[in-house]
Amino acid sequence: MKNRACVFLDRDGVLNVDRHDYTWKTEEFEMAPGAAEAAKQLKANGFTLVVITNQAGISKGLYGWKDVEACHAVLQAACANAIDAFYVCPYHNSITESLGRKPGTLHFERAIHRHRIDPKISFMVGDMERDLIPAKAMGITTFLIRGRISQSLYADYVVDSLLEVTQIISGLTQK
Ligand SMILES: [Mg+2]
Repeated sequence: MKNRACVFLDRDGVLNVDRHDYTWKTEEFEMAPGAAEAAKQLKANGFTLVVITNQAGISKGLYGWKDVEACHAVLQAACANAIDAFYVCPYHNSITESLGRKPGTLHFERAIHRHRIDPKISFMVGDMERDLIPAKAMGITTFLIRGRISQSLYADYVVDSLLEVTQIISGLTQK
């Protein structure tokens, strides 16, 4: 079986509006403009979609797994269940160090193995350096969405939205 092309996605600031604080209440979970449409388009174009998100608020005791799952249910409802898998790292270096916390590559490695993903034909979309560093290490093409930062040495492309990512990927993958 041929290995799959995947779009890896950071969550906060990519799929939903970044509140510059932890987002765990469903009433505060707001999809980013065009993000649901973009996710549906990527899915329709045959990409596996994997969310890799640091949620250190769990280990800090601010919220629990059930809150994260409730937010992901809102996300999935908005984008017609386009997301194939969520990899969540609950740890923070001040409490428990984890290779699964970005910029660690562990969750990327897990997803690549589990979903038979070919990194060379895959993409990562993030809004911070720590999203792009592990992707680059795995040979994945990277997109930075401007917001928290406006440039990065690890970004192959710098864009303003997930919809813009979708347009560029369509152009790159058209035969
Ligand atoms: Mg983010």
